[in-house]
Amino acid sequence: MALAYIGLGSNLEDPLAQVNRAFVELSQLPLTQLLQRSAIYTSTPVGPQQPDFTNAVALLDTHLAPLELLDALQAIEQAHQRVRIQHWGPRTLDLDLLLYGDAIINNERLTVPHPYLTQRSFVLYPLADITPDLHLPDGSVLRDWLAQCPPDGLNRISPAR
Ligand code: ATP
Ligand code: MG
Ligand code: MG
Repeated sequence: MALAYIGLGSNLEDPLAQVNRAFVELSQLPLTQLLQRSAIYTSTPVGPQQPDFTNAVALLDTHLAPLELLDALQAIEQAHQRVRIQHWGPRTLDLDLLLYGDAIINNERLTVPHPYLTQRSFVLYPLADITPDLHLPDGSVLRDWLAQCPPDGLNRISPAR
């Protein structure tokens, strides 16, 4: 059993509905419980010019192994008719495995902790909603990363629950 944090993002076809539907789908994964959801945010996109994103983070307690969880996340992305056209381009739903317990994973399908976790305000602030005193597997603390990452372009649009 592991605590896994999932980053949710959408900027196409009613992003708030995409994110809320993804929370429901995460809660229905086998061998998995949805423990907490962050507040929901909007963020200004990085990369190519495109609509604003809606972002959130979910905390799962799961018996799925990391690659089984990745398969399940990608199946949910597919169910949202995600089409990969452009790297960092617009998408109906992106589900990233941010953290899987204290695991450090580097293989061709999966890098955990997520490589950009510590640099993205739309990941760091929602993580802090759920676990403000979070420690990363390398021993660094979320608070220190937050202090280095101003919430520019980030807007909280609904509370955590
Ligand atoms: P970014 O990684 O910068 O957030 P992205 O989420 O847009 O980019 P995707 O197109 O969703 O990238 O994923 C590309 C590939 O990343 C996937 O096929 C998946 O195998 C791989 N990947 C590696 N590590 C992870 C992870 N921690 N969570 C999700 N996918 C991952
Ligand atoms: Mg991503
Ligand atoms: Mg992704």
